[in-house]
Amino acid sequence: MRATQALIYLDRLKKNIEAVRNRIGPKPLICMPVKADGYGHGAIPVAQEALGSGVAVLAVATVQEGIELRKAGITAPILLFSIPLPQELEELVAAKLSPFIADKDSATALAAAADRAGVRFPVHLKIDTGMGRVGCCPEAAAALAAYLVSLPSLQYVGTATHLARADSPLADAVAYTKKQLARFTQALDAIRTAGFDTGIVHAANSGAVFLHEDAYFDMVRPGIVLYGYPPSEELASLVQLEPVMELRSSVVFIKKVSPGTPLSYGGTWIAPEERMIATLPVGYGDGLPRSLSGNLQVLIRGTLYPLVGRICMDQCMVDLGQNTDVRRWDPVTIFGGTGAALTAGDLAAKLHTIPYEITGNINKRVPRVYCSGVGNGVLPIAYHE
Ligand SMILES: *Cc1c(COP(=O)(O)O)cnc(C)c1O
Repeated sequence: MRATQALIYLDRLKKNIEAVRNRIGPKPLICMPVKADGYGHGAIPVAQEALGSGVAVLAVATVQEGIELRKAGITAPILLFSIPLPQELEELVAAKLSPFIADKDSATALAAAADRAGVRFPVHLKIDTGMGRVGCCPEAAAALAAYLVSLPSLQYVGTATHLARADSPLADAVAYTKKQLARFTQALDAIRTAGFDTGIVHAANSGAVFLHEDAYFDMVRPGIVLYGYPPSEELASLVQLEPVMELRSSVVFIKKVSPGTPLSYGGTWIAPEERMIATLPVGYGDGLPRSLSGNLQVLIRGTLYPLVGRICMDQCMVDLGQNTDVRRWDPVTIFGGTGAALTAGDLAAKLHTIPYEITGNINKRVPRVYCSGVGNGVLPIAYHE
């Protein structure tokens, strides 16, 4: 297996699930989104570990993602967060993926597909309370509920909304979330007043799990915290989490360069004095953002060393200084390790983005290596000379 790997610590995932469970108490169900290949961690092993650790429901963004889970033998309920195309409905029904329904047309089309398959198909009614993405307006919820109940091949089993600012503790964001929750509660009341059972009610993403107890209802849908990152930098101190992914590589080449030597494309870095330089076989072709060139430190033998010069497609260079104990084949942690290693959250902060994008972009060229029960020393991926 190649030197660059994403180690996926399933024991850390388990701990993060326990942290969420402790936070929300024993009652609410946990739905874990494993969309975008489990935020880059590998949807199937993550889903299997999660289901064995107290997660009851999974969620995906595409029909294909749901089908892959089913092919792996996963029988747990799976929610579909995005709107499928009409021509995907047959596959969706066959794979038993419960979609969010936000309008009558979708309900009609799905009911017809369920009819053709001869099944009664479970759906969740989605209300847009202020995210502006997918959902019916709160005032239309009761009528849509009535319509769902009127369709014999559909089973109205849940009611959901999604929160746009639940990850921020700032006063205006908190007020906005409260307003969303008030609209949601009003719509739930209207559905019940019209004589319908709302089914499982759910709203909370990661931010709400830690900031909005009143958003728990019957089920929570935290993603990023289960993968080990706070949903926003402001919440970093609130939450004790362990990053599930460690991006690892190895030193595959070491050389001494003399003062004035330029490195990498464009020669943007020039050795100010004699330096030892290591080459790592990882680059933007693996999903390590090129825009981190000159702005990243990696951990080797417990010490952070700066990346120098431009990150190439498949390789990058590290300045080891003048006297170094680093040796060829030493393992390198790029993010997510223990000790001084940076996290995907640190990389995200440098790029003004969020950790979701960092782990999600580590692509399929990087093998995922699943480890569990690891605390001291991981798998040997590199050997000393
Ligand atoms: C992705 C997603 C979540 C999880 O969001 P996190 O910020 O990762 O907790 C929950 N609900 C819906 C509808 C989503 O699309």
